[in-house]
Amino acid sequence: MNQIFENITDKDHEQIVYCNDPSSGLKAIIAIHSTALGPALGGCRMYPYKNEDDALIDVLRLSRGMTYKASIANLNLGGGKAVIIGDPKKDKSEVLLRSFGKFVDSLNGKYITAEDVGMSVHDMEFIRMETNHVTGIKRAMGGSGDPSILTALGLYVGMQAALKKKLNINSLKGLKVGIQGLGKVGYYLCENLKKDDVEIYGYDIDKNRLDEAIQDHGVIPVSNDELLSMDLDIFSPCALGAVINPSSIKTLKCAVIAGAANNQLEKESRDSKLLSEKGIMYVPDYVINSGGLMNVANELQGYNKDKARYQVEGIYYILMRIFDYALSNNISTLEAANHLAERRIEEFVRWNHKWIEK
Ligand code: NAD
Repeated sequence: MNQIFENITDKDHEQIVYCNDPSSGLKAIIAIHSTALGPALGGCRMYPYKNEDDALIDVLRLSRGMTYKASIANLNLGGGKAVIIGDPKKDKSEVLLRSFGKFVDSLNGKYITAEDVGMSVHDMEFIRMETNHVTGIKRAMGGSGDPSILTALGLYVGMQAALKKKLNINSLKGLKVGIQGLGKVGYYLCENLKKDDVEIYGYDIDKNRLDEAIQDHGVIPVSNDELLSMDLDIFSPCALGAVINPSSIKTLKCAVIAGAANNQLEKESRDSKLLSEKGIMYVPDYVINSGGLMNVANELQGYNKDKARYQVEGIYYILMRIFDYALSNNISTLEAANHLAERRIEEFVRWNHKWIEK
């Protein structure tokens, strides 16, 4: 590719760090998109990328997304992300993780790492041996533990906000919600919905996850095609990205889309437009799933579960503001979220400069 500067200028990245340690086998890239609001916090993903260009593209995209997520969530954090090139099942070792920790430490807190795809809470402990700039540590070690519980709570309050705005109803009682993916977030979401006697329909490619949700939460199993075409109040994608595309939009019969999966829209502007033409309200994924980030961010001040829950419940008001802004500016909910996230950063930078000049 050899167009790294072009790439990072195009997406406004501040710094890219290539981490190479032949003795541990570590090949990683840390991307710091923005530190305008604070240190760049974002998970570390380990994945067998086909080549280094693919790894770079992924880390640039993901780190930029973290800037927007932290900003809209009103956190004093910037956006960053790291990728380790390798197969987590074969290539992961203590020395590789500790070597990554040393690189994180060399950035003196400008980047704070966390768990992501291919990494576990246990892995974070090895990284922690080399640096304090790590979150997503076990509760027993003073950390915030599994973020999925609060991510699911964020989804639940986000669904309430969407229904209030779209249908002027205050409760999910008796409504129909379809969940695609009953993994960690999907499972905990059912726990919340069950309290409201919601009729929960679900599908997961993993039969064990589906069976667990049926047994524990009374989920009604349906096929993926049924889920995408049945009458629902809310469709909740909690598995994969790009599930909202022209072909699924054609079949979907729901009032609201509100799920945890990242990058749900295959093509943002095209699919936002198609959804609004069909009268389906899309709840921007990076806003409604920001409970996990709020949870790990809490570790930075000493983890307090009640405070983290309170912050996550605030997703309701963050979304209400986005819905109102979208309506008054005649733009999609996703555009509204992006505008508001960018505006907070711009306003903060202007305000901060004033204080520096004084
Ligand atoms: P998970 O891996 O525990 O669960 C995902 C589930 O989706 C699994 O049970 C898997 O079998 C299922 N699945 C995979 N492909 C599928 C398909 N084609 N159809 C139906 N089901 C399928 O992950 P999670 O932690 O529950 O996260 C769910 C989504 O939310 C992911 O996209 C993740 O990136 C995103 N997210 C999670 C968090 C969090 O706190 N865990 C925070 C923000 C965003």
